Amino acid sequence: MKFNLPKKHKSKNTNPELKVRAHLRYNKVSYRIHCKALPGTPDIVMPRYKIAININGCFWHQHGCTNTKVPNKQREIWECKFDKVKSRDAENRLKLENLGWHVIDLWECSIMNENVLNEILKKLYFRMGILEWYGKITDAEKINYAA
Ligand SMILES: [Zn+2]
Repeated sequence: MKFNLPKKHKSKNTNPELKVRAHLRYNKVSYRIHCKALPGTPDIVMPRYKIAININGCFWHQHGCTNTKVPNKQREIWECKFDKVKSRDAENRLKLENLGWHVIDLWECSIMNENVLNEILKKLYFRMGILEWYGKITDAEKINYAA
């Protein structure tokens, strides 16, 4: 069975994307969006830190959480589609890493949970060396974020 993946399965400016961008702006982190010059057009990049962030929809990128259910109808076709998306994700990640970028995948379900998102961003800011902007942290937290 022939099946073509729609070119733009990766929609732009989704709610999770806007949410992450709002956080970054609030913390005065500069970034660029939808950088076409890089493999896979990462959703958010911070060139100064060579950090690329992909904001993945749980369904399309098959996160494995509760939003990930494969539809029962035409199951094989869906699975084939998801395989293509997953291998393309992996390919792009490798290409970016080979160019010296640190690639971070953020998932829709984590982003929509404010507490989880805060933890993710603290880790990110720690990596960027700007966690202090985010407020005081304990030594135990520092160890945690360095992991
Ligand atoms: Zn998820």
